[in-house]
Amino acid sequence: MLNPLLNLGFNIPFESLRPEHVEPAVKVLLEQGTRNIEVIEAETAAPTYDNTLGRLDRATEALEVVMTVVGHLESVMTSPELRDVYNRVRPDVSAFYASIPLRPRLWERLKAFAATPAAAELRGARERFLHKTLEQFRREGADLSPPEKQRLEAISRELSELTSRFGQNVVASSAAFELIVEEEARLSGLPPAARERAREDAKAHGKAGFRFTLQAPSMIPLLTYCDDAELRRQVHLASESRATTGETANPPLITKIIELRQEQARLLGFASFADLVLADRMAKNGAAARSFVDDLSQRCRVPFERERRELHEFRRRLEGPNAPELERWDVGYYAEKQRQALYDFDSEQLRPYFPLEGVVAGLFETARRLYGVKVVPNTTLGCWHEDVRAYDMFDEAGVHLASFYTDFFPRESKRDGAWMNSLISGTSAPSAGASSVHLGLICANVTPAAPGLPSLLSHGEVETLFHEFGHLLHLCLSRVEVRHQVGTNVAWDFVELPSQIMENWCWEKEALATFARHHQTGASIPDELLAKMERARTYREATAMSRQLGFATVDLALHIDYDPEQHGDVLAYARAVAAPFVPAKLSENHAMIASFSHLFSSSVGYAAGYYSYKWAEVLDADAFTRFQREGVYNRQVGEAFRRSVLERGDSADPMQLYKDFMGREPSLDALMDRAGLSRVSAGGASASPG
Ligand SMILES: [Zn+2]
Repeated sequence: MLNPLLNLGFNIPFESLRPEHVEPAVKVLLEQGTRNIEVIEAETAAPTYDNTLGRLDRATEALEVVMTVVGHLESVMTSPELRDVYNRVRPDVSAFYASIPLRPRLWERLKAFAATPAAAELRGARERFLHKTLEQFRREGADLSPPEKQRLEAISRELSELTSRFGQNVVASSAAFELIVEEEARLSGLPPAARERAREDAKAHGKAGFRFTLQAPSMIPLLTYCDDAELRRQVHLASESRATTGETANPPLITKIIELRQEQARLLGFASFADLVLADRMAKNGAAARSFVDDLSQRCRVPFERERRELHEFRRRLEGPNAPELERWDVGYYAEKQRQALYDFDSEQLRPYFPLEGVVAGLFETARRLYGVKVVPNTTLGCWHEDVRAYDMFDEAGVHLASFYTDFFPRESKRDGAWMNSLISGTSAPSAGASSVHLGLICANVTPAAPGLPSLLSHGEVETLFHEFGHLLHLCLSRVEVRHQVGTNVAWDFVELPSQIMENWCWEKEALATFARHHQTGASIPDELLAKMERARTYREATAMSRQLGFATVDLALHIDYDPEQHGDVLAYARAVAAPFVPAKLSENHAMIASFSHLFSSSVGYAAGYYSYKWAEVLDADAFTRFQREGVYNRQVGEAFRRSVLERGDSADPMQLYKDFMGREPSLDALMDRAGLSRVSAGGASASPG
């Protein structure tokens, strides 16, 4: 019987892939991957680039593609069978990858090649690939003694088990909470749509009245609009103390996870887990990440305090001079009232100007104007669902660079959020059978069409599509020889530059004028509405930034400093670190880290890397200033960004790529300007995040 997963070409036969194909295919490909590595180990000829690194670059390609395709289907067309089989094969696949750097013979061959004159003469992408591979092998334990390797493997297994329990506890304890409100009068202030959803939800659970949960679409409107402070308090406290008690208690897991991560770091010769994780990122080490976060926090401090004071004064104007201090569950509520009073702007007014088709045409037009590429529909590629569209991308000379899929609407079988994925990474010097053409996809869950209306997007959804399309361009425009360096295979704190920079085009009047058109009248967004949107953009920005910086500070403190002997209870420790970053006093049960899945629901995830969000914003805000100065559709600037960043993947140090484009290191000032915080910030000196 033919297993289609073992014979994937460029036109992936999504419609004929079945869950029962997965296990046999992965088994074959694990064996094949092992054999490919054994070939490198068994080679008797003198070590060369081709017979070591060149082969290593391709050794596990087929396995990677199949795992990506299966993981992708699990994200967009899941079924209990597919989820089961995917979860079943994953531990074996991760164990296989983890075992590669621990193979003594392979490590010897790589070191033997590294010692040759030919290796010393490598330049550019190959030189970087050699250097990074050696570093990565060391960081993953290649130099350890056999007992140390055993210990490392045991730590990895335990971490993967504990972190997946952490994630399950968050889900279970969130799901265990419900708040039933029987009298509708208590919901005054809550918009009709949210009220209706709560009523439906109660009905679906066989209850009378209105049901609220800790899921964002239920919780956020309640905290933002409900006049009843007691209801807000209950929901807020429940959310902040998730996964702290009973069978789903995460605090003991957190302590253990941090301890294991520290042990892992020390075993590998690093002072902290942050230093281990950041060694191959732009920040390079925990101290640099921390000084970046501290610097931004310092600049935020004064406007943050001002926003806090103004919100309190606003409440006093509403409720009289004796109105109490704001509690945590009051902040969102009064902030919304203040926003309405200040700006008279409802972002829903923009929706009619963003029909999906127009926005997608705007994406392609932006890519054409900036990078000279042409996107045309492809009707021959097989898709996984009728909502999916396929496209080809060509350069100015008509060369086929890439094909990609878009999948934009929610479905029962599709996961939340938006993302980009690379299915096939084309290389600029393809070996036999390999592709030079990339194959990728972007997925989202935007507002679908309603009866009599096309799909009309919120401005946030438009930003999301531009963001994911930016990631996609990073793949599609990539021209890199080494497969492991293609497209988005770059440092975690660099990967969001190509995506976040695209969001800027959703705010530029000139850009909006090209694609934002009223779905009925074809009119552009009125100037007055644009002006309101622009003014409301930076509302309470210092508070929002401070919140992110608080998370980043807690993350770094836990992964650099925290020592249970010295600091005691991890929740109390994290609470004390977080306190200066939030606009109202933290309650005694505040235990946000107990549900902080970014840090603790996978072996690494965002651990010691939460700062990356702000780091990438610094890069994108700063890089965009060149477009602002020289023209948002300036083809030369677009070309420079393409040549310096988008084409080059990880073939050079990201700071070098950045400097190639900007002619200097990044500065924090552009982000502070965009956030409307530069006038009032504390320090005036320019600082770079590198
Ligand atoms: Zn992204």
